[in-house]
Amino acid sequence: MQHFEEYSTFFVQEAASKEGAISPSIINSASFGYGDSETAEGIFDGSVKKPLYSRVGNPTTAKLENVLAKMDGGVAAIATSSGMAATTLATMSLLSAGDEIISIGGLFGGTYSFFHETLSRFGISTSFHDVDELENIENAITDNTKIIFCESVGNPNMRLPDIKAIADIASKYGVVLMLDNTITPLSIKPLDLGVDIVVYSTTKIITGNASALGGAVIFRAINEGEDKFKGERYSDVHKFIKKMGKMALFANGKKRALRDFGMSANAYASHLTLLGLETLPLRMDRVVNSCEIIADALDEQAFNINHPSLRAHPHHARYKAEFSQGCGTLMTVDMGTKENAFKFINALKLATITANIGDSRTLVLHMASTIYADFDDETKKFLGITPGLIRVSIGLENPQDIINDFMQAREIVR
Ligand SMILES: *Cc1c(COP(=O)(O)O)cnc(C)c1O
Repeated sequence: MQHFEEYSTFFVQEAASKEGAISPSIINSASFGYGDSETAEGIFDGSVKKPLYSRVGNPTTAKLENVLAKMDGGVAAIATSSGMAATTLATMSLLSAGDEIISIGGLFGGTYSFFHETLSRFGISTSFHDVDELENIENAITDNTKIIFCESVGNPNMRLPDIKAIADIASKYGVVLMLDNTITPLSIKPLDLGVDIVVYSTTKIITGNASALGGAVIFRAINEGEDKFKGERYSDVHKFIKKMGKMALFANGKKRALRDFGMSANAYASHLTLLGLETLPLRMDRVVNSCEIIADALDEQAFNINHPSLRAHPHHARYKAEFSQGCGTLMTVDMGTKENAFKFINALKLATITANIGDSRTLVLHMASTIYADFDDETKKFLGITPGLIRVSIGLENPQDIINDFMQAREIVR
């Protein structure tokens, strides 16, 4: 199956220049000379479009932001120092003490801790829901709900949300829907589905080879007529709408988060991320095909595999209909016990044991003893973390080599 053809031309053309240096230039300067006081004044009031200071904008990073915004059909993007920084920027630019978040799905461990442990210290509370609890989600919305936050693929529970249905609930009540689309760039087009703000960890498949930590937030344009951001719920954003019109969310993100928290991307990471984008469609195509092949083969060999491409998965129909371009690089294998999981992982010859995902190489990690080691039993149950659970991120290797490696490792466990 050929996926992502519509992006193949776009990325290689957008990332490079036709004149001068072809590869995106690394402008590795923290600050920029303004030349004269009049220009300095103009840069600060926004009438002169030149770099001000790299915390609030760097030319290499701006190039990356431009490509990422176009990738998702957004009006603008802000690149950040990490994926967690992207989530922090997207949420903290809208939240105040007393606000509530409705969190749906997965949930990536860092995001869970951020909402549950850190934001709660600032008087912001979060309720957590499974992707299919649509009624509970709707009932959880109050006047204080500022953000509905969802992940495109449950990591590591592999449950798939009905993003459109969730977006309908969000728009019915005029609440912002944010989607963490880290696992499914290009596969899911969040803004077309009714998502307002998209966050990415570009560390994963977007860069794709563990060479750069990074993140990005993509904003939609504010509508000319009615828009949920014009409602009372988002009165803090109104002054940006007055001044910046359709670019208001971008301005709000820069002023309310990037400038004040300083989670800025660095030029070298932005350069490496742009290089990754050039091959993203090719790598995604390879990996989503490999995932189906590997999940299918291992399932037939009586491995306990969790992947929505398998017929027994509760979201198989949704996978076929709404995730027809695959659901990224992840699957899980449950080896029953921690002991078996450790033995199995240690016997693998190809897989790298690490916390990353979306790499060129196949990666594995035992969940309960690493990322979720600090989590209590109830939370682990909600997040689907069983004692023998291993998360696998499929890489670019020959899928048959991965299948063979898994088979030989299981022989050792037995
Ligand atoms: C890795 C990841 C993040 C965090 O990204 P970092 O770049 O590690 O900060 C957020 N969401 C998801 C789904 C991730 O996989």
